[in-house]
Amino acid sequence: MAGARAFIAATKQQWKVALPLAGLPACALAVLLEESIAAHVGTGAALAVMAAATGLGVLGLALPCVSVRCPRCQCKLLRRAVHREAASEWLLWLVRLDRCPECQFAPAAPGLAPSDG
Ligand SMILES: [Zn+2]
Repeated sequence: MAGARAFIAATKQQWKVALPLAGLPACALAVLLEESIAAHVGTGAALAVMAAATGLGVLGLALPCVSVRCPRCQCKLLRRAVHREAASEWLLWLVRLDRCPECQFAPAAPGLAPSDG
């Protein structure tokens, strides 16, 4: 077995998952501290902060679903994982992935890109 994270790491797509997910706690914090923010900057500004935090949260969930792809066949791997795997299994399925479930492309080593497309 090529090992956990093999496909995502070998195709250099870890950041597409990690960066948006890293922003989610900041968005959640903004939502949780809404009253405190409103007390300091006013209700209108607090609503703007809430809207921005909500938008960033939605983007943080949606962008990885459309951007984590097989470099050969463009299969949306995270989207496929969320749609087809059990709620408790999709992340494990994704990090254990060592080849594309659609075209069977298997990156040989981290950093290697497919030569045929
Ligand atoms: Zn593929």
